[in-house]
Amino acid sequence: MGSIFLPDIFVDTVFDMDLEKLKADGVKAFIFDIDNTLATYAMPVADEKTAIWVKGLKDEGFKVFIASNNDKDRVRIFAENIDVPYFGKALKPLGFYLCKACRIMDVKTKEVALVGDQLFTDIWGGNLLNMKTILVKPISEVEDGFVRFKRRFERRILKNMER
Ligand SMILES: [Mg+2]
Repeated sequence: MGSIFLPDIFVDTVFDMDLEKLKADGVKAFIFDIDNTLATYAMPVADEKTAIWVKGLKDEGFKVFIASNNDKDRVRIFAENIDVPYFGKALKPLGFYLCKACRIMDVKTKEVALVGDQLFTDIWGGNLLNMKTILVKPISEVEDGFVRFKRRFERRILKNMER
């Protein structure tokens, strides 16, 4: 196991990326994973915060693309909702669609930051093409944990009601 699987940058969420620094480092475009990166598997579209944030990226002058290994309908619905070009069934870590996305955005691979939650698809794929790779913590772990956390209190409240 070598550094080909390791990201250049670790962040908790996409919102924690330092855009000014990335811009200064020559990043002109982002390719995003969807599942557990921009949304949970269960969310058909982005939440409002994410949608506004993606729009903000474009307003800042960054090009934005989505490349997800998930099925084409899931990816189409998600990406069209936030008005971002996309490839579903992107076959990451293979570079074919990632390179195609670069050609469509008219950027070099080294000008792209690939953002995802998985080392063996997102990060490996980006590193193979010499992209800047950014690993986020999977969203759903956080949410699942939070839901479980809340359930404990729900159960406690329900129990008290039964008395
Ligand atoms: Mg993912």
